[in-house]
Amino acid sequence: MTRMVGIDLGTTNSLVAIFRGGRGEVLADPATGSRMCPSIVRGETDSTVTVGEAAKRDRVARARDTVASIKRMMGKSVAEAQALVEGLSYAISDVGDGVPRVRVGDRLLSPPEISALILKELKDRASAALGVSVERAVITVPAYFDDRERQATRDAARLAGLKVARLLSEPTAACLAYGLEKIPSGKIAVYDLGGGTFDVSILKVKDGLFEVLAINGDTRLGGDDIDAAIAARLLERAKLEGAQFDRTLRVEEAARTAAENAKIALSADVEVSVTLDIPEAGLRWTGTLTRDEVESIARPVIERTLKLSGRALRDSGLATSDLDAVALVGGSTRMPLVRQRVEAFFGMPPRSDLDPDEVVAMGAAIQASVITGESRGITLLDVSPLSLGIETMGGVVAKIIPRNSTLPTAVGMEFTTHVDGQRAVLVHVLQGERELAKDNRSLARFELRGIAPAPAGIPRVEVIFTLDANGILNVLARDKKTGLAHDVDVRPTSGLTDEMVERMLIEGMTLGAADLEARLLVEARVEGEKLLRQSRKVIAQDPTLITPDEASQVDAVLRALEVTIGTDDHRAIRRAMETADAVTVPVAQRLMDRNIASFLTGKNVDGD
Ligand code: AMP
Repeated sequence: MTRMVGIDLGTTNSLVAIFRGGRGEVLADPATGSRMCPSIVRGETDSTVTVGEAAKRDRVARARDTVASIKRMMGKSVAEAQALVEGLSYAISDVGDGVPRVRVGDRLLSPPEISALILKELKDRASAALGVSVERAVITVPAYFDDRERQATRDAARLAGLKVARLLSEPTAACLAYGLEKIPSGKIAVYDLGGGTFDVSILKVKDGLFEVLAINGDTRLGGDDIDAAIAARLLERAKLEGAQFDRTLRVEEAARTAAENAKIALSADVEVSVTLDIPEAGLRWTGTLTRDEVESIARPVIERTLKLSGRALRDSGLATSDLDAVALVGGSTRMPLVRQRVEAFFGMPPRSDLDPDEVVAMGAAIQASVITGESRGITLLDVSPLSLGIETMGGVVAKIIPRNSTLPTAVGMEFTTHVDGQRAVLVHVLQGERELAKDNRSLARFELRGIAPAPAGIPRVEVIFTLDANGILNVLARDKKTGLAHDVDVRPTSGLTDEMVERMLIEGMTLGAADLEARLLVEARVEGEKLLRQSRKVIAQDPTLITPDEASQVDAVLRALEVTIGTDDHRAIRRAMETADAVTVPVAQRLMDRNIASFLTGKNVDGD
């Protein structure tokens, strides 16, 4: 038996939850009883890794071996990661394949591999707590994660041995946890201030249907910034009061930890005593910190969140008076000042009856229960986080699907040629908000060839963008005169290729204490999935070339293989692969022969 869980893979902390008793319930680590797993990984000299609480505990002493906030690096290029790493205790390495690496023990790992270690910890925790194998998960991502960042999250799940049933936006998850789908018709603001990120989302709910109207936020704004500012203040005061010490990394980290603890205590108390004690740096200082002081430090961060909230509201075309509920998410919303300012800004007391650290994971578990059919009556709509368009003359972007469009969606737009007799057009698919193509992210390029020759401006080329519920984009370009078309599925890439993920899966198994059986299982699954993918791709190329009998036979063996891949039996997977091969190889061979033959006789896929 397997079970689907909901996972909040956070910048600071991660959680895993299941649907039980009609609600999402966060699972505790059976060993420690703790429900939050710090998103922190440390490499050890014996090639093993320490994840979570234990890695956080020795974070100061082992700063150089400790990797935190890896979520910031997900889906980033080497240069982007290098720009983001400032202020963190680790470095980004460039191994020349475009994917950033971080040293974990004696290995260099990519961000998805490091996130996979956290996911694996949660998977194992859930499997132990439930006594069943956990294989599938709904994983939450920030609403504005782009394709690469989402794909990096999927890669991480795959590396952890988890199938992603759905990537769910964090604010949507929070709404589900608060049961806001029960509002017959209304508008909701979700204010999420965590350790490392701020998100604000404006959602509409109607008859159990959610729609995200607008999102805004800052991936580099959160409780960590408040901690850093408090830490700087503490060190400054220690210096002023005569303490002599070197500002080493160790001192900075210790000051940060003291600052965070003081900040958390000041959400309940009005004054706390703080001690900095790092003998080898010559630092020993004790002083007091008041809530007023921390609030004055936190105020700029909070005001910035409200400014971004105002922007999201403006994007949604709503005023605060249109809102029916405001929900709080993220540990930093426990600060009394945050609650006061949010209430004053939105003009109503925010919903805060659930643990702000747990709402996202709880919502993910509810979404999982919708997928498995355990709960009914909730439908979810997601939103495209960034605009999608194509490059036109002069390197300018024509937006086809504007950002914040509700998914699924399909939008068509007509273009024409700009040279007389032009027979081909280049379709360059872009994602982003900037005006010039070069400033946006390039997702794909393809050519539509064989346009009927005509003077410039006469041909009518229709480009249709279709975004499915998972945010996967299909782009179709069609010459309206001839009907000639070309389409591509724009599969997001995180920078890791399928081959790289597969190699990582296999290499990962040779590390640590994994036994041979586990390794054989991973290898069988990787190869089985590859066979499934390739067989389906080949057959989808021209379904008319196989008979209905063959089609149902192929379908049956591939389905059987898919089911077996979900089990823990590598021998059964190998057998299912052999059966699938016996049926699919002759069909695939014939299809390939046909393709070659039609090419040789001058016919091509365009049919002209
Ligand atoms: P999250 O990313 O949602 O897990 O939130 C973690 C952030 O919440 C960290 O910056 C914590 O310091 C902060 N936090 C947790 N509890 C409190 C509290 N009681 N008061 C203020 N901040 C808190």
